[in-house]
Amino acid sequence: MTTEQALATIRPDVRAMHAYAVQPSHGLLKLDAMENPYRLPPELRQQLGERLAAVALNRYPAERTAELARALARHAGVGDEVGVTLGNGSDELIGLLSIAVAQPGAAVLAPVPGFVMYEAYARQQRLDFIGVPLRADDFQLDEPAMLAAIREHRPALVFLAYPNNPTATLWDAAVIERIVQAAPGLVVMDEAYQPFASRDSLALMARHPHVLVMRTMSKFGLAGVRIGYLLGARDVADQVEKLRPPYNISVLNAEAALFALEHAGVYAAQAAELRRERERLFAALQALPGVRPWPSEANMILARVPDAAATFAALKARGVLIKNVSALHPLLANCLRFTVGAPDDNTRLLAELPHCL
Ligand code: PMP
Repeated sequence: MTTEQALATIRPDVRAMHAYAVQPSHGLLKLDAMENPYRLPPELRQQLGERLAAVALNRYPAERTAELARALARHAGVGDEVGVTLGNGSDELIGLLSIAVAQPGAAVLAPVPGFVMYEAYARQQRLDFIGVPLRADDFQLDEPAMLAAIREHRPALVFLAYPNNPTATLWDAAVIERIVQAAPGLVVMDEAYQPFASRDSLALMARHPHVLVMRTMSKFGLAGVRIGYLLGARDVADQVEKLRPPYNISVLNAEAALFALEHAGVYAAQAAELRRERERLFAALQALPGVRPWPSEANMILARVPDAAATFAALKARGVLIKNVSALHPLLANCLRFTVGAPDDNTRLLAELPHCL
């Protein structure tokens, strides 16, 4: 068989796809991916090393996976009646949810601009993806457009990132309530940025069996460990659990996550500092002529500049990597996304930025 014949067996839409591109960042100040800038203090790193060294790497993951799931539920403050499914990052959970609803004619709906993986995983499952544009001025949900799209497309799955990426907005609670009432399928509140937000959706979830809450340890401080979790009515979460690859959480990841939860106070203090830094960064961006930042409930700030491509390139030339999101959606024309870093990182960004506008 030739390579061409081999390739002919691959789905045409897969052949037409691009692989997810991770920006090279070596040697740059990394303010592009909403990572927590802090590592553990040295003494805790030492202890973690000892814990990981004691893990039996020759065995498949077993009870520790379930222990981690319950520890995450306790960390979120929900009771044993709530079901929990773990993903290798919440990315994987978005994929599993998409598989769970993938019937002919089914649709996935989300506001746009939003997190790109909702559409990517929907397309992998040959689901229709309905992107409903946000309001242009404040990036809030366009309620009439959302309700009209729900009536027309009857989505099996609605994703509401809360706060949203890349706009860092939280949605109006009354609007969410009406969307949840109107939705004929599952509504997933994606709370990846919950450590930085002033509100969450756990009470909404408790009132509606079709509302699930998805969280991740990535923005908490463990982006490299890859732990996402889905909370919801047990009967619904159990369906997603059936699709979970049996050993998707490595023994090392589970142990590192359990260790981090035992030191949740360290991470909470880091999140509090990042929230303070966010306010400082926002005020400084707002004071720069030609820069319009939007208020943020996450560890990122979206801002419009006169020429996003030029500013992105100039910052990179000066050693600072951010994300140019302007091509993601017409509403994001000339928009850049700045991840909130440690105080020194933000000071450096703010020193360089005026030279790059
Ligand atoms: N949801 C949102 C809104 C995100 O922005 C991201 C990552 N940037 C994720 C989910 C995925 O996070 P992870 O796979 O690291 O848990």
